[in-house]
Amino acid sequence: MSEIKIEFVQLEQQLEMLTIMLDRPLYKGDELAITIKYYGNIITKGSVGVFLASYLETNKETNEGMRKFLVSTMFQPHFARRMVPCFDEPQFKAIWKVEVIHPSLLNAISNGKILQIEALSNGWTKTSFDVTPIMSSYLLAVAITEFEFEDVQTKNCTLRFWAQDTNNSRFKRFKSISKTVFDYLSDYFGMNFSLEVLNSVIIPTELKFTGMENWGLISYQNKTILLDDSIPLNFRSMVHIITHELVHQWIGNIVTYETFKQLWLNEGIAEFITDITTEILFPEAQLNKHFFLRWQRIAIGVDYNNYKYPLENDHDDLRSYPKHLYLAYKKGYGIEKMIYHILGPEVFKSSIREYLKAFKFSNVNSDKYFSILQLNADRNNITVNFDLFKNEWVLMDVQLYTPDELTTKLLL
Ligand SMILES: [Zn+2]
Repeated sequence: MSEIKIEFVQLEQQLEMLTIMLDRPLYKGDELAITIKYYGNIITKGSVGVFLASYLETNKETNEGMRKFLVSTMFQPHFARRMVPCFDEPQFKAIWKVEVIHPSLLNAISNGKILQIEALSNGWTKTSFDVTPIMSSYLLAVAITEFEFEDVQTKNCTLRFWAQDTNNSRFKRFKSISKTVFDYLSDYFGMNFSLEVLNSVIIPTELKFTGMENWGLISYQNKTILLDDSIPLNFRSMVHIITHELVHQWIGNIVTYETFKQLWLNEGIAEFITDITTEILFPEAQLNKHFFLRWQRIAIGVDYNNYKYPLENDHDDLRSYPKHLYLAYKKGYGIEKMIYHILGPEVFKSSIREYLKAFKFSNVNSDKYFSILQLNADRNNITVNFDLFKNEWVLMDVQLYTPDELTTKLLL
């Protein structure tokens, strides 16, 4: 391999972008290896990027509380760059090979299954992981803990559950719900899970997120998962979060939005499939009713009060990401519900299956999504024009209610 000279390197702080200028152009098919020496910080406040968290554990012999530490990660939307220099946008998918050097008393987990654990000197260990499927940087994850784990076998993969304490009924309930949902979704999507092991780790500390769908390593915040599920609200919340993160193991992880403005293709579809899945598996949770009433009200409020944006707009930079979040989940959910009612349950399911198959391991925009819906509608003689639908509901600044109507509807 011949060497290419680097002319200069420029860091653009505001764009968080590093430009490496080479002495010659690159051509399609060129293979280029870049070695970068770098370091990142483990933050001790907050829960984005690579973060250190602490929690209390009672010493069983002395009955005294001990402070323990763990390291975990949260990279959505753009924090993978805090751990590793990378093309940190969803459309630049890559295969990731991870090795973690950590204290020997702790376990390291990442997206891929563990290939090797090698003892180093002075109490350190190197854990090497299998390569990931081709995936976006925000799905990369690492956790270093002293937790225990329990395995549950499914037809094509191992579900591995990690927690501070695995010997309690709430943890058992969590495993059981996860297994039920996972089996159902594998069948619903008509596609096996892409990895051999799916880790779920419960973080026993305050986080800025309730759950994160990292491919092969889902993180949950314990206060949203290990709850007293005899209280209906707790049960509903658990079922919601677990199902949502498991839906993402297909929707979002296998097929991913291209840019932030299409975030609703991840979150809107995931929320809606969560809704119809829990309706079948856990009707007692009444998530469907809850979703519709709550999401509809919030979506209208968001639409009207704060973010008078179409579902997709040109403000697709990171500064508008929080606005996309609200729209993507809540308005996106509503759009999916309409699509479901237009197509009916069976055609909706076959459309989602075809969408996953057609765009497996790649990125999508709403044109690609609606083209699959249109194909399935036409095939089944359902009269609908999804170009028009997209223009009216996704691209246009649709406000569902004028102020008077809003007041009237909400009073009703
Ligand atoms: Zn989500």
